[in-house]
Amino acid sequence: METQSAKKARTPPPNVPQEEESTNASNMPRGGTSQEYTVEADGLGCEICFEPFDDQIFMCKNGHPACGTCCIRMDRLCFCTDPIGDIRCRPLEKILAAMTRPCAYVTYGCKEIVSYSGRRSHEKVCPFAPYHCPFDGCTYQGLEVYTHIRDRHAPSAVIVRGGSQRLDVTLEKKTPFRVLLHRDGASVFLLLNGGDVLCGRSLSLVCMGPRPTGNAGVKYKMEVKRRSDPDAPVLWSSGAAPFVRRLKDFHAKGFLFVPDSYWDSYDSVSVTVHLTDGW
Ligand SMILES: [Zn+2]
Ligand SMILES: [Zn+2]
Ligand SMILES: [Zn+2]
Ligand SMILES: [Zn+2]
Repeated sequence: METQSAKKARTPPPNVPQEEESTNASNMPRGGTSQEYTVEADGLGCEICFEPFDDQIFMCKNGHPACGTCCIRMDRLCFCTDPIGDIRCRPLEKILAAMTRPCAYVTYGCKEIVSYSGRRSHEKVCPFAPYHCPFDGCTYQGLEVYTHIRDRHAPSAVIVRGGSQRLDVTLEKKTPFRVLLHRDGASVFLLLNGGDVLCGRSLSLVCMGPRPTGNAGVKYKMEVKRRSDPDAPVLWSSGAAPFVRRLKDFHAKGFLFVPDSYWDSYDSVSVTVHLTDGW
């Protein structure tokens, strides 16, 4: 409680001209003149989750502010046990709505002035937000990531030259990614070799008789789509179904990995199985 009142006391009331204040946050009234105030960043956050406030701020009748997410998460009860979630803290909302500052990427060329509540949505899509070089130990951040990788990491990048539809890339097990530089001179792709093992299931198809003649197993292709998200990659594998006489002790050498995120709320997926010879 003491820290809270101390913070409030350090935040000067609006419209009182201040002398010699530094410029952490600026306030631009509609009149065209602006005055700058220093506001401590942690004074603008929810006192429960410590995240910066969004546009809606609530308070209990003892004046404890909380963000909308915390009101829901705490079952609309403040930590002081009073109900919270019905009373909006309009004065604080108004102050935040009037606060503006330059985009965080001003040094990369963005000229946008963003409001306190709109800053995150702008900065997420800001065209001046820098790219971080993916190579371990390289500290490059900037907008020219294609040129940077081409000039500094050329041996580790695959620079595409021809206009072919496909590209064959050799990937070593120990390499976390390969960089593919498109021939358009701007597009950068990373072929990721994730070492982090997701949870999921491995699907494979085996043939339990009759034994195929010769060595060739029955050829198939298997596909799984994520039903809830049509843009998610379609997972597929194809090959020859190994022949087994008994399933016990059989371990598939190749399989289709279907991560947990592809299983629906009933824990099921729909699998399309094509046999080259038809069903
Ligand atoms: Zn919160
Ligand atoms: Zn309270
Ligand atoms: Zn920006
Ligand atoms: Zn680099």
